[in-house]
Amino acid sequence: MDQNISERVNCLIIGSGPAGYTAAVYAARANMKPVLYQGIQPGGQLTITTEVENYPGFPEGVQGPELMVHFEKQAQRMGADIRYGLATKVDLSEQPYKVWIDEEKIIEAYAIIIATGASAKWLGIESEQRLNGHGVSACAVCDGFFFRGKEVAIVGAGDTAAEEALYLSKLCSTVHMIVRRDEMRASKVMQDRVKNTANIKIYWNSETDEVLGDKLVEGVRIRNNQTGETVEVPVRGFFVAIGHKPNSDIFQGMLDMDESGYILTVPGSAKTNVEGVFACGDVQDKIYRQAITAAGSGCMAALDAERYLSEKGFH
Ligand code: NDP
Repeated sequence: MDQNISERVNCLIIGSGPAGYTAAVYAARANMKPVLYQGIQPGGQLTITTEVENYPGFPEGVQGPELMVHFEKQAQRMGADIRYGLATKVDLSEQPYKVWIDEEKIIEAYAIIIATGASAKWLGIESEQRLNGHGVSACAVCDGFFFRGKEVAIVGAGDTAAEEALYLSKLCSTVHMIVRRDEMRASKVMQDRVKNTANIKIYWNSETDEVLGDKLVEGVRIRNNQTGETVEVPVRGFFVAIGHKPNSDIFQGMLDMDESGYILTVPGSAKTNVEGVFACGDVQDKIYRQAITAAGSGCMAALDAERYLSEKGFH
């Protein structure tokens, strides 16, 4: 073994959201002795949300961070080896595959489960960051319910923004949609639905000057980028839907991806184009992006990995 190689494992899981931990539960129960590296945000995107009301099994709802502690404990109890550390580089050219952790140690693995998730894109303005989780959200399906009957704003003009605006329009009194150009990127059918929804008000050629409020969102100042005019709207929720970025950079050039960097899997499986490498959760799902769908695909990845390891005689 090369002197830089720290360890050789059967099954390496990269990422610690619902997909990664579910894969760990299944892999550990199947005696695959999985090692899981948590990445930069242990627990994943749910750790930055508040209450989760749509994860089955919690009739009273559960806090996102608490849910992720449950996931971690369950994986640990099953025997998964859970560690801090960020995968910084991979070599998938030959078995066993190599994964660099924190740019120093190298783990060799026969099966790799990629569950690195995606990150919401943000506008990057100070008030948005300060009020994040206090009325600012990047997920209407997660947080829209808290603003029922109230006015909200949403930024973006793609299919996600259109879908989320429609979702919010069923809960909220008015949805103020802030679109930076004079047209939307969303598919025509989605645009038509948005335009034909009475309580969605579109602000064309408009940008967010500031999210207003001290401790909670109390409004938004919208600026027309053609005329420079501003208007203040008293919203309680501010949703950002300007896209997600899958955390797949280290696999560029090694795994098949779509044009946005989502890892492609064989339909009905978690298999990537490299045998023994599986992907689950948001890094390969730009459509559903829910904790429960991520968990389900994590289960699929572990079952696929188990089959692969036994077929190859690695396990
Ligand atoms: P997109 O990249 O398609 O759209 C992002 C939107 O955000 C664009 O309208 C863009 O404006 C706007 N935007 C980006 N940055 C800023 C900014 N700083 N300020 C203001 N606005 C900004 O992302 P989506 O998440 O909407 O969709 C991703 C992919 O997933 C797409 O291919 C989409 O079709 C697909 N999808 C499909 C669904 C379905 O089929 N049901 C549902 C959801 C997504 P601009 O147009 O000016 O660049």
